[in-house]
Amino acid sequence: MLNTCKCGGEVHLDYLQGDYTGQYWYAICNDCSAEYPLKSNNRIDAEREWNNCIEADTKQTVTSALSPYTNAYAVLQLPIENGKIFMGYNDIHGIIDFQDYTLVYTGALEKLNPENIYPILDNIFEKLNIAHPTDYHARSLSVSDIVAIKHQNTISYYFCDQAGWRLIK
Ligand SMILES: [Zn+2]
Repeated sequence: MLNTCKCGGEVHLDYLQGDYTGQYWYAICNDCSAEYPLKSNNRIDAEREWNNCIEADTKQTVTSALSPYTNAYAVLQLPIENGKIFMGYNDIHGIIDFQDYTLVYTGALEKLNPENIYPILDNIFEKLNIAHPTDYHARSLSVSDIVAIKHQNTISYYFCDQAGWRLIK
């Protein structure tokens, strides 16, 4: 299962004869033909590299954005044109493409009991639906959004499902 191109298109992996730059595997978009050079020298590693590096981008963004905080949260949302927007976990068969998500908000959390995150998530949900902070300019929090919770040095990701939350990786 490959990740998608920035345009949303599916990619295939292909080995292209390099010129003076050498020989590389590429992920090539089937729709827009964008080429993503990979460092790996075989298909298995290239697939792994493609999946990991793309996923890391979004999570890296979250990690950086939350780095000033001890306890905090971040909200990730899909662009409106994404086919999985507002869909529940079962409807998307649990397949969550982090690279499709955009970080839209971060906020500090004062008190955080790591043993019981769910009331905190419910509070965030309520706040981002009925009492937006003045600096919140995104859509109201809804199904298919992801909330990242940072507690000290650990960040956990929760998918906003039709009823409640799902801890995801
Ligand atoms: Zn593309």
